[in-house]
Amino acid sequence: MVSQNKMKYKLPFFAVLAVCVFGNCTQAPPAQSEFVLGTVCTINLYRGGSPRLYGEVFSRLRELEGILSANSADSVLAAVNAAAGVEPVPAGEDLIRVLERALYFAQASGGAFDPSIGPLVRLWGIGTERAGVPEAGKIEEALSLVDWRDVRLDRERGTVFLARPGMALDLGAIAKGYAADEAVKIIAAAEIPLAVIDLGGNIYVYGEKQGDRPWRIGIQDPLEPRGVYLGVLERKSPETQSPRRGDRQGGRDPLANKTVVTSGIYERFFEHAGRHYHHILSTRNGYPAETDLLSVTVIAENSMDADALSTAAFALGWEQGSALIRDEGAEAVFVFAGRSIRCSAGAAEIFTLSDKSYSLAEQLRPRRRSGRRGFRPRCLLTLRTGSEIEEI
Ligand code: FAD
Ligand code: MG
Repeated sequence: MVSQNKMKYKLPFFAVLAVCVFGNCTQAPPAQSEFVLGTVCTINLYRGGSPRLYGEVFSRLRELEGILSANSADSVLAAVNAAAGVEPVPAGEDLIRVLERALYFAQASGGAFDPSIGPLVRLWGIGTERAGVPEAGKIEEALSLVDWRDVRLDRERGTVFLARPGMALDLGAIAKGYAADEAVKIIAAAEIPLAVIDLGGNIYVYGEKQGDRPWRIGIQDPLEPRGVYLGVLERKSPETQSPRRGDRQGGRDPLANKTVVTSGIYERFFEHAGRHYHHILSTRNGYPAETDLLSVTVIAENSMDADALSTAAFALGWEQGSALIRDEGAEAVFVFAGRSIRCSAGAAEIFTLSDKSYSLAEQLRPRRRSGRRGFRPRCLLTLRTGSEIEEI
């Protein structure tokens, strides 16, 4: 049950939309939602949106589903999977682009993120009615088919070949991000000044709002029902910005033209014998990745990268995951079991805690590590009941 305290901080599900509705966007046409890509996708074109343009964006999303879906027997991806160990399959530009980037992140994450995770995803069936704990032998068998190095992408011929029979691609961890980027391209080409693309929580905020109301994006509390936020990403007022960063933001909205993508334990899972089984799988043992993380939220400019990074960082855990995000020049908010939160330096500048079961700890003076981008030593938040100050 949601406590009174929590309800007080419950933002509307689409917090970003609410701000504009109560701001100076009263002429805005209504947002539109459709179930596509296996989730509810909501597009809000604040000014200049027309039924034709909404139609164009959703038809592109449906087209991408038809190419990239691991859940449909008719997709291009399904054709690649069906020809595993047999022959290369013409893949088309969209699949090639997503897979190319997925293979990049597979390498960058040392294989923790792996687009050939398909056999394991099918076996566990998490998020479907047949979800259950498979026999250990079956997990071993499926795991033996997961190896991104056996995915042969031939850019010149435009084909994809899975080297061993039984292998299967699953791009569920990256394709929604690509779809968000593609939606942005259509919106930008139509010269729409302001838009929010929300593909089941994979959010892109396009354009910068006039006036003093910045974009706001709530971060879901992983331990509470959907729509209960533990904090908000938003431009802070000059008084609460650190002097070091305040002038650097220069009054610009740091969330404008940014994407915010979360991976966590709470989106797709089942419970069995008192254990929680979530949908991000370990490529080391074939079970849901064991980590002390509840969620990782990535803030970046490119949604495909943010999608891949949030899943990869979750699978890798804090140490390696934060290093990967730092190396990719992105920002992130890590939420840990035990209700502590760690932010990258850039994320700390725009993160406001709203859940009072956490408390804002004293911030340490950041020390610059030469030659490193992104994460700097910083204490941000600790549990009110916890006494440790976490330095990152
Ligand atoms: P993310 O963290 O971004 O991704 C988690 C997903 O990535 C897992 O569900 C799994 O698919 C995959 N994964 C797990 N472990 C790893 C790993 N170690 N490395 C790489 N990938 C991993 N859902 C339906 O129920 N029905 C549908 O018909 C359907 N169609 C879809 C079509 C498309 C084109 C896409 C992109 C998604 C579709 N989905 C569908 C949703 C999909 O199955 C995933 O649940 C969803 O993409 C997960 O997104 P997320 O943001 O919650 O989590
Ligand atoms: Mg992802």
